[in-house]
Amino acid sequence: MLLVSLLLAVDVSAQRKSKKKPALAPEPPNELAKLRDEYIKATNDYKASLEKLVAIYEGNVKKAEEKVEVSKKLLAEGLIARAQVEENEHALALEKQKVAETRRQMDGADAQIAGVLVETEADKEIAKNLRLAKQGLIRTASFTRYTGSGGWNLSDAWKIQRFFSDTFNKQLPIAVFGQGAIHERWHLDHRNAMDIQLHPDGVEGRALLDYLQKNGIPYSAFRSAIPGTATGPHIHIGRPSHRY
Ligand SMILES: [Zn+2]
Repeated sequence: MLLVSLLLAVDVSAQRKSKKKPALAPEPPNELAKLRDEYIKATNDYKASLEKLVAIYEGNVKKAEEKVEVSKKLLAEGLIARAQVEENEHALALEKQKVAETRRQMDGADAQIAGVLVETEADKEIAKNLRLAKQGLIRTASFTRYTGSGGWNLSDAWKIQRFFSDTFNKQLPIAVFGQGAIHERWHLDHRNAMDIQLHPDGVEGRALLDYLQKNGIPYSAFRSAIPGTATGPHIHIGRPSHRY
Protein backbone atom coordinates (compact mmCIF):
# COMPACT_ATOMS: atom_id res chain seq x y z
CA MET A 1 0.00 0.00 0.00
CA LEU A 2 2.90 2.25 0.78
CA LEU A 3 4.39 1.17 -2.50
CA VAL A 4 1.45 2.53 -4.39
CA SER A 5 1.55 5.99 -2.90
CA LEU A 6 5.24 5.97 -3.67
CA LEU A 7 4.56 4.77 -7.18
CA LEU A 8 2.19 7.61 -7.77
CA ALA A 9 4.27 10.24 -6.06
CA VAL A 10 7.59 9.59 -7.72
CA ASP A 11 8.74 12.26 -10.09
CA VAL A 12 9.80 11.86 -13.67
CA SER A 13 13.30 13.22 -13.21
CA ALA A 14 14.16 10.13 -11.20
CA GLN A 15 13.48 8.07 -14.27
CA ARG A 16 15.79 10.16 -16.41
CA LYS A 17 18.54 9.90 -13.85
CA SER A 18 18.37 6.13 -13.86
CA LYS A 19 19.51 6.04 -17.47
CA LYS A 20 22.99 6.89 -16.27
CA LYS A 21 23.68 3.61 -14.58
CA PRO A 22 26.13 3.89 -11.69
CA ALA A 23 28.47 0.91 -11.49
CA LEU A 24 27.75 0.54 -7.78
CA ALA A 25 24.69 1.87 -6.02
CA PRO A 26 25.60 3.60 -2.75
CA GLU A 27 22.40 2.39 -1.05
CA PRO A 28 20.42 -0.78 -1.54
CA PRO A 29 17.65 0.11 -4.02
CA ASN A 30 14.14 0.13 -2.62
CA GLU A 31 11.24 -1.77 -4.16
CA LEU A 32 10.13 1.25 -6.12
CA ALA A 33 13.50 1.94 -7.67
CA LYS A 34 13.89 -1.72 -8.52
CA LEU A 35 10.52 -1.83 -10.22
CA ARG A 36 11.25 1.28 -12.24
CA ASP A 37 14.71 0.09 -13.27
CA GLU A 38 13.34 -3.32 -14.13
CA TYR A 39 10.70 -1.68 -16.27
CA ILE A 40 13.12 0.50 -18.19
CA LYS A 41 15.59 -2.31 -18.69
CA ALA A 42 12.96 -4.85 -19.68
CA THR A 43 11.32 -2.47 -22.13
CA ASN A 44 14.64 -1.64 -23.76
CA ASP A 45 15.72 -5.28 -23.93
CA TYR A 46 12.39 -6.37 -25.31
CA LYS A 47 12.28 -3.67 -27.95
CA ALA A 48 15.88 -4.36 -28.95
CA SER A 49 15.09 -8.05 -29.40
CA LEU A 50 12.01 -7.24 -31.46
CA GLU A 51 14.09 -4.82 -33.54
CA LYS A 52 16.45 -7.69 -34.38
CA LEU A 53 13.50 -9.89 -35.28
CA VAL A 54 12.06 -7.23 -37.57
CA ALA A 55 15.40 -6.95 -39.38
CA ILE A 56 15.44 -10.72 -39.94
CA TYR A 57 11.85 -10.79 -41.11
CA GLU A 58 12.40 -7.86 -43.45
CA GLY A 59 15.32 -9.76 -44.96
CA ASN A 60 12.98 -12.69 -45.49
CA VAL A 61 10.43 -10.44 -47.17
CA LYS A 62 13.09 -9.25 -49.61
CA LYS A 63 14.08 -12.82 -50.46
CA ALA A 64 10.46 -13.82 -50.88
CA GLU A 65 9.88 -10.84 -53.19
CA GLU A 66 12.81 -11.83 -55.35
CA LYS A 67 11.49 -15.36 -55.53
CA VAL A 68 8.11 -14.09 -56.70
CA GLU A 69 9.77 -11.96 -59.38
CA VAL A 70 11.86 -14.86 -60.66
CA SER A 71 8.90 -17.22 -60.72
CA LYS A 72 6.82 -14.69 -62.67
CA LYS A 73 9.50 -14.56 -65.35
CA LEU A 74 9.67 -18.35 -65.45
CA LEU A 75 5.91 -18.49 -65.78
CA ALA A 76 6.03 -16.01 -68.67
CA GLU A 77 8.54 -18.27 -70.37
CA GLY A 78 6.27 -21.23 -69.78
CA LEU A 79 8.82 -22.99 -67.58
CA ILE A 80 6.69 -23.33 -64.43
CA ALA A 81 3.00 -23.57 -63.56
CA ARG A 82 0.93 -20.66 -62.27
CA ALA A 83 0.39 -22.57 -59.02
CA GLN A 84 4.11 -22.22 -58.34
CA VAL A 85 3.88 -18.43 -58.58
CA GLU A 86 0.86 -18.40 -56.31
CA GLU A 87 2.69 -20.50 -53.78
CA ASN A 88 5.53 -18.00 -53.73
CA GLU A 89 3.12 -15.10 -53.42
CA HIS A 90 1.51 -16.81 -50.47
CA ALA A 91 4.91 -17.28 -48.82
CA LEU A 92 5.63 -13.58 -49.36
CA ALA A 93 2.35 -12.58 -47.72
CA LEU A 94 3.21 -14.72 -44.69
CA GLU A 95 6.62 -13.06 -44.32
CA LYS A 96 5.00 -9.63 -44.53
CA GLN A 97 2.55 -10.66 -41.83
CA LYS A 98 5.43 -11.55 -39.51
CA VAL A 99 6.91 -8.08 -39.94
CA ALA A 100 3.56 -6.43 -39.25
CA GLU A 101 2.92 -8.60 -36.19
CA THR A 102 6.35 -7.85 -34.73
CA ARG A 103 5.89 -4.12 -35.29
CA ARG A 104 2.53 -4.35 -33.53
CA GLN A 105 4.24 -5.98 -30.56
CA MET A 106 6.81 -3.19 -30.47
CA ASP A 107 4.04 -0.58 -30.32
CA GLY A 108 2.35 -2.31 -27.41
CA ALA A 109 5.59 -3.20 -25.61
CA ASP A 110 5.42 -0.48 -22.94
CA ALA A 111 1.88 -1.32 -21.87
CA GLN A 112 2.51 -5.07 -21.96
CA ILE A 113 5.63 -4.88 -19.82
CA ALA A 114 4.03 -2.49 -17.35
CA GLY A 115 1.12 -4.93 -17.12
CA VAL A 116 3.38 -7.87 -16.37
CA LEU A 117 5.31 -5.91 -13.75
CA VAL A 118 2.29 -4.74 -11.79
CA GLU A 119 0.90 -8.27 -11.93
CA THR A 120 4.05 -9.79 -10.47
CA GLU A 121 4.24 -7.04 -7.82
CA ALA A 122 0.74 -7.96 -6.66
CA ASP A 123 1.71 -11.63 -6.45
CA LYS A 124 4.66 -10.70 -4.26
CA GLU A 125 2.43 -8.64 -1.99
CA ILE A 126 0.00 -11.53 -1.57
CA ALA A 127 2.78 -14.05 -1.04
CA LYS A 128 3.98 -11.97 1.90
CA ASN A 129 0.54 -12.00 3.50
CA LEU A 130 -1.08 -15.36 4.18
CA ARG A 131 -4.23 -13.80 5.56
CA LEU A 132 -4.76 -12.02 2.25
CA ALA A 133 -4.02 -15.14 0.23
CA LYS A 134 -6.94 -17.00 1.80
CA GLN A 135 -9.58 -14.46 0.86
CA GLY A 136 -11.85 -14.81 -2.12
CA LEU A 137 -11.90 -11.07 -2.65
CA ILE A 138 -8.76 -9.14 -1.86
CA ARG A 139 -8.70 -5.37 -1.87
CA THR A 140 -5.53 -3.35 -1.40
CA ALA A 141 -4.77 0.20 -2.47
CA SER A 142 -2.98 -1.05 -5.58
CA PHE A 143 -5.20 -3.91 -6.72
CA THR A 144 -8.39 -5.92 -6.27
CA ARG A 145 -8.34 -9.66 -6.82
CA TYR A 146 -11.39 -11.87 -7.07
CA THR A 147 -10.81 -15.62 -7.16
CA GLY A 148 -14.07 -16.42 -8.92
CA SER A 149 -16.58 -19.16 -8.28
CA GLY A 150 -17.10 -21.09 -11.48
CA GLY A 151 -14.75 -22.38 -14.12
CA TRP A 152 -13.29 -19.81 -16.42
CA ASN A 153 -11.99 -20.44 -19.89
CA LEU A 154 -10.57 -17.94 -22.34
CA SER A 155 -12.92 -19.34 -24.97
CA ASP A 156 -15.73 -17.65 -23.00
CA ALA A 157 -14.19 -14.26 -23.67
CA TRP A 158 -16.85 -13.49 -26.28
CA LYS A 159 -19.49 -13.27 -23.53
CA ILE A 160 -17.54 -10.49 -21.84
CA GLN A 161 -16.95 -8.78 -25.16
CA ARG A 162 -20.64 -8.92 -25.92
CA PHE A 163 -21.60 -7.55 -22.52
CA PHE A 164 -19.18 -4.66 -23.00
CA SER A 165 -20.23 -3.76 -26.53
CA ASP A 166 -23.92 -4.04 -25.59
CA THR A 167 -23.40 -1.73 -22.63
CA PHE A 168 -20.98 0.84 -24.03
CA ASN A 169 -21.46 0.53 -27.76
CA LYS A 170 -17.79 -0.05 -28.43
CA GLN A 171 -15.27 -2.84 -28.49
CA LEU A 172 -13.73 -4.17 -25.30
CA PRO A 173 -10.16 -2.79 -25.34
CA ILE A 174 -8.17 -6.02 -25.15
CA ALA A 175 -4.43 -5.36 -24.81
CA VAL A 176 -3.26 -8.94 -24.48
CA PHE A 177 -5.29 -12.02 -25.40
CA GLY A 178 -3.83 -15.23 -24.00
CA GLN A 179 -0.10 -15.81 -24.04
CA GLY A 180 1.81 -12.74 -25.29
CA ALA A 181 5.39 -12.62 -26.48
CA ILE A 182 6.43 -10.95 -23.24
CA HIS A 183 4.93 -13.75 -21.11
CA GLU A 184 6.70 -16.30 -23.26
CA ARG A 185 9.95 -14.48 -22.67
CA TRP A 186 9.51 -14.22 -18.91
CA HIS A 187 8.07 -17.73 -18.51
CA LEU A 188 4.70 -16.59 -17.25
CA ASP A 189 1.62 -18.65 -17.95
CA HIS A 190 -0.94 -16.21 -19.34
CA ARG A 191 -2.58 -18.71 -21.69
CA ASN A 192 -5.98 -18.64 -20.02
CA ALA A 193 -6.13 -14.90 -19.34
CA MET A 194 -6.57 -11.58 -21.10
CA ASP A 195 -5.65 -8.02 -20.17
CA ILE A 196 -8.10 -5.20 -20.67
CA GLN A 197 -6.80 -1.67 -21.08
CA LEU A 198 -9.21 -0.04 -18.63
CA HIS A 199 -8.64 1.71 -15.32
CA PRO A 200 -10.57 -0.27 -12.70
CA ASP A 201 -11.96 2.89 -11.12
CA GLY A 202 -13.40 4.37 -14.31
CA VAL A 203 -17.06 3.98 -15.28
CA GLU A 204 -16.35 1.24 -17.83
CA GLY A 205 -13.85 -0.48 -15.58
CA ARG A 206 -16.27 -0.59 -12.65
CA ALA A 207 -19.07 -1.94 -14.84
CA LEU A 208 -16.77 -4.64 -16.15
CA LEU A 209 -15.68 -5.71 -12.65
CA ASP A 210 -19.29 -5.81 -11.58
CA TYR A 211 -20.16 -8.07 -14.50
CA LEU A 212 -17.22 -10.38 -13.82
CA GLN A 213 -18.12 -10.75 -10.17
CA LYS A 214 -21.79 -11.44 -10.89
CA ASN A 215 -20.71 -14.18 -13.25
CA GLY A 216 -18.12 -15.68 -10.94
CA ILE A 217 -15.27 -14.91 -13.35
CA PRO A 218 -11.87 -14.49 -11.66
CA TYR A 219 -10.03 -11.21 -12.20
CA SER A 220 -7.29 -8.96 -10.88
CA ALA A 221 -7.73 -5.22 -11.28
CA PHE A 222 -4.61 -3.06 -11.04
CA ARG A 223 -4.51 0.61 -10.16
CA SER A 224 -0.79 1.25 -9.85
CA ALA A 225 1.21 2.88 -12.60
CA ILE A 226 4.88 2.53 -13.34
CA PRO A 227 6.52 5.77 -12.16
CA GLY A 228 6.95 8.38 -14.83
CA THR A 229 4.57 6.63 -17.24
CA ALA A 230 0.84 6.26 -17.67
CA THR A 231 1.13 2.51 -18.14
CA GLY A 232 0.20 -0.09 -15.58
CA PRO A 233 -3.48 0.16 -14.63
CA HIS A 234 -5.48 -2.61 -16.29
CA ILE A 235 -7.88 -5.47 -15.64
CA HIS A 236 -6.56 -9.00 -15.90
CA ILE A 237 -9.36 -11.51 -16.53
CA GLY A 238 -8.63 -15.06 -15.46
CA ARG A 239 -6.55 -16.49 -12.65
CA PRO A 240 -3.18 -14.87 -11.92
CA SER A 241 -0.36 -16.00 -14.21
CA HIS A 242 2.30 -18.24 -12.69
CA ARG A 243 5.90 -18.80 -13.60
CA TYR A 244 6.68 -22.03 -15.37
ZN1 LIG B 1 -2.67 -10.25 -17.32
